[in-house]
Amino acid sequence: MNIPDIIIAVDGCSSTGKSTFAKMVAGAFGFLYLDSGAMYRGVTLYAMENGLIAGDGAIDEPGLKAVIDTLDLHFRSIDGATKLFLGERCIEKEIRTLEVSSHVSPVSAIGWVRSFVDDKLHAFSAGGRVIMDGRDIGTTVFPNAELKIFMTADEKVRAQRRLDEMLAKGDNPTFEEVLANLRERDYIDSHREVSPLTQAPDAFVLDNTDMNLHEELVWVQGLIQGRFGILC
Ligand code: C5P
Repeated sequence: MNIPDIIIAVDGCSSTGKSTFAKMVAGAFGFLYLDSGAMYRGVTLYAMENGLIAGDGAIDEPGLKAVIDTLDLHFRSIDGATKLFLGERCIEKEIRTLEVSSHVSPVSAIGWVRSFVDDKLHAFSAGGRVIMDGRDIGTTVFPNAELKIFMTADEKVRAQRRLDEMLAKGDNPTFEEVLANLRERDYIDSHREVSPLTQAPDAFVLDNTDMNLHEELVWVQGLIQGRFGILC
């Protein structure tokens, strides 16, 4: 397979299945998968664990700004899966809780938090041949990405998928809690001043409300084959 060093940007609202889709494409085409949302979750977890987010959700911005450049957040590949580490600690499970989800959007709306994460994402992608998912990958992080995909799905379908995922991991939120969190994050993410969630004009839209993973794979194979002549 002759794969060029392209970057594939996958953006969209919360719980549209971006990471499942991106991981599948990475596996099928031999790309490195990078989850930009995990980085924002990692910063948020650090802030929560170090008393930088108060009970009412207020962020101690000067406190976080003073330490952000010292945060050793990075991905490691373990048994073929990419996991987020803070120093030597794997924080993959901790960053997926509803508590982190409820604080992550205000943290990620801060401009210098975004710059910190963007710098890391560029450094991790230096080798090319990367598929990255998030909210602003095709608009801000890699505006020249060779392929941009914008994912969308019915809101209730998205909430049910996220709930199933959390229940499978042993968490116990209600459908209403998950739906409310998803709506709140989508609102904050698409209304923030810095790098809001928006569809890049040159993105291909994938509405997977009624699609399974295999159908998504067939869709993207057609797209990649048509644009780059790559078969997998
Ligand atoms: O993708 P995920 O749901 O894990 O992202 C968590 C949060 O991180 C999002 O709700 C959003 O606030 C933030 N995020 C962002 N920009 C990205 C990726 C994620 O602001 N590129």
